Amino acid sequence: MKIAIVGAGLSGLACAEHLVLAGHEVSLFDKARGAGGRMSTRRIDSAAGQVSFDHGAQYFTARDPAFQAVVSQWQDSGSAARWPAAGPEAWVGVPAMNAPIKMLAAQHDVSWSTPIDELVQQEAGWRLSCDKAVIDRQFDAVVLAIPAEQAAALLVPSDKGFHRIAANTASDPCWTLMLAFLEPLETAKMVIRDDAIIGWAARNSDKPGRTGPDAWVIQASPTWSKEHLEEDQHQIVAALSARFATLLDAPLPEPLIASAHRWRYARSGKTDQNALYSKDLKIGICGDWLIGPRVECAWRSGTALARMILA
Ligand SMILES: Cc1cc2nc3c(=O)[nH]c(=O)nc-3n(C[C@H](O)[C@H](O)[C@H](O)COP(=O)(O)OP(=O)(O)OC[C@H]3O[C@@H](n4cnc5c(N)ncnc54)[C@H](O)[C@@H]3O)c2cc1C
Repeated sequence: MKIAIVGAGLSGLACAEHLVLAGHEVSLFDKARGAGGRMSTRRIDSAAGQVSFDHGAQYFTARDPAFQAVVSQWQDSGSAARWPAAGPEAWVGVPAMNAPIKMLAAQHDVSWSTPIDELVQQEAGWRLSCDKAVIDRQFDAVVLAIPAEQAAALLVPSDKGFHRIAANTASDPCWTLMLAFLEPLETAKMVIRDDAIIGWAARNSDKPGRTGPDAWVIQASPTWSKEHLEEDQHQIVAALSARFATLLDAPLPEPLIASAHRWRYARSGKTDQNALYSKDLKIGICGDWLIGPRVECAWRSGTALARMILA
């Protein structure tokens, strides 16, 4: 089959991997300019050079034996390593969180900067529309590997109840603050967890393979992010910086970089299925949100969907 996958994050790429191995022709479409999805890395220029921040997923676990085997291949290829500061189970991409995604995406046919805004079902198969224009390629099957809210927007209510499932699986947002300093902050702390305002803060530059100035990623808790969702960047930078200084018990020096990113759909919900597939309509759905809000769940969901399609 010719299969289109909307979304080239880990779930879409894991699905593509298995389908291509089984001999299918797979094309991926992603609205972003480059690889990563929610495992992406932001690079920002500063007076002290470029600084990189893993502003989405902070680390990942590999509890599932099949995913462990994949992560160990990533480790062998130098694109993942353990990060003990976050705990004995923690892995990160190297030299940046998006490294494994970049490596996977390079092995597939991915069209970047291609936001899909409509799925067009025709008798002979599926077509996709981007920026309100139908792409001139036809597919036998289509896969959505995007967050639940974005999948719901592309699904019509009749799709075997898939629209209802996606529309009822809400994600939590996350405001993320990125700070960099010329001189390292004087703290022994590498990771701060579970404050009411700051759910997580970590010295990004402590992760393996990172170079450059002292860089921190500070993520607001889901409750705080929801309450402040529509505020502007400057207010968020000021509020989270102030809270971070309080948690460190020291004033912050003038930062080289202070920037905030709003993830509207950061931490997914979950359902009681690993993936969704309709054999008659030839439409499949995968993503972390089917299983739970973690990198490992995204991989498992993409793999489960490929198995359903192949069966
Ligand atoms: C702030 C934050 C912190 C996190 N922390 C952790 C953590 O510590 N540990 C952990 O395990 N997980 C964490 N996660 C969750 C983890 O990042 C996700 O579970 C995982 O990356 C999801 O992969 P995915 O392929 O399902 O979705 P995504 O990575 O979101 O991939 C979906 C892709 O689809 C594209 N897309 C969306 N809509 C369209 C469209 N209409 N057309 C074309 N392309 C589209 C997007 O650009 C994206 O590349 C975190 C996530 C965030 C945001």
